[in-house]
Amino acid sequence: MIKAKAYAARDEKTDLAPWDFERREVGPHDVQFDILYCGVCHSDLHQIKNDWFPGIFPMVPGHEIVGRVVKVGNHVTKFKVGDLAATGCMVDSCQVCENCKQDLEQYCLEGSTQTYNSMERDGSMPTYGGYSSTIVVREEFVLSLKEGVDLAAVAPLLCAGITTYSPLRHWKVGKGHKLAVLGLGGLGHMGVKFGVAFGAEVTVLSTSPAKEEDAKKLGAHHFVVTKDPEQIKAAMGTFDFILDTVSAPHDFNMYLSLLRTNGVMICVGVPPEPAQVAAFSLLGGRKSLAGSGIGGIKETQEMLDFCAENNIVSDIELIDIKDVTESYKRMEKGDVRYRFVIDMKTL
Ligand code: NAP
Ligand code: ZN
Repeated sequence: MIKAKAYAARDEKTDLAPWDFERREVGPHDVQFDILYCGVCHSDLHQIKNDWFPGIFPMVPGHEIVGRVVKVGNHVTKFKVGDLAATGCMVDSCQVCENCKQDLEQYCLEGSTQTYNSMERDGSMPTYGGYSSTIVVREEFVLSLKEGVDLAAVAPLLCAGITTYSPLRHWKVGKGHKLAVLGLGGLGHMGVKFGVAFGAEVTVLSTSPAKEEDAKKLGAHHFVVTKDPEQIKAAMGTFDFILDTVSAPHDFNMYLSLLRTNGVMICVGVPPEPAQVAAFSLLGGRKSLAGSGIGGIKETQEMLDFCAENNIVSDIELIDIKDVTESYKRMEKGDVRYRFVIDMKTL
């Protein structure tokens, strides 16, 4: 077994604290890499709080992971010691179902193995995420990065990046479309960058008036304060797409009223409680309410390459790992500009 250090949650009520544990040995198809940076996703907070389902504790969160390879198995062909490497939200899947075969491992019919708060496919032990010193991942789920990129700012692409890139590509959002990005946090700010890069006219829908200047700097064309009834009234029936990145309960019916006829609202945010949606909110205007989960491995690599070619990275605040609980508190208040990333040498 491989000795590793981490920050872990002991249960859903206690703050994260240092924890020593062991990772599995590097198998023939595995890559081990030492972690340099790990992003802090709102999903980390949802999971340590048991917002979605009872978690597996101790839990080491973190699924925006970048680092350098220190060991590879005999059958590994894509990586060698010293290469940059990255991992996102998944570390395994069945690889043979119809979804896996179509590069949609995130929708594996047997369920993909999550980077943490999941069991290894052989059921032997839980998976542990990126708030740790080192990680072992099967080669197919390790992404390649180009040398010379800002690694700390690249880390959030592994979740916030692919989760917004994938639906915008799937629905072919681009020139001629009016796209609204709902919630300007980690996912939202990447949604703005991709929407702009793909040629859409982008509006940020935000509860935080203070984020307007940032939204414009990120490339957004318009900014709507959703707490202002006048601004909401003016935006009604205007968007082709809404990318909903909100982490807390919110009024779906109100946001659906902002779509044009045939408009699509795409949920990527995962509030703890289910939403109430009136059929009338959809049928008047033949609107669709859709969802999207992260992205497959092939598309994640495509997104990383697209970002490298177009100089797209995340806007980050680099933190010391001892401040991770503080970062959660700020994230809960919507005070994130626009992704916390842990400098893992502070572990
Ligand atoms: P985040 O950085 O905390 O951003 C969420 C933003 O939502 C906040 O900054 C805030 O923006 C807005 N917001 C918060 N509470 C709100 C409320 N009550 N009403 C309206 N807006 C509110 O979170 P994140 O890391 O981007 O994650 C967002 C969500 O996506 C989480 O639920 C996360 O679990 C989920 N997620 C899903 C996937 C997937 O595969 N689908 C992948 C990753 C994450 P403003 O200040 O602009 O209002
Ligand atoms: Zn995430």
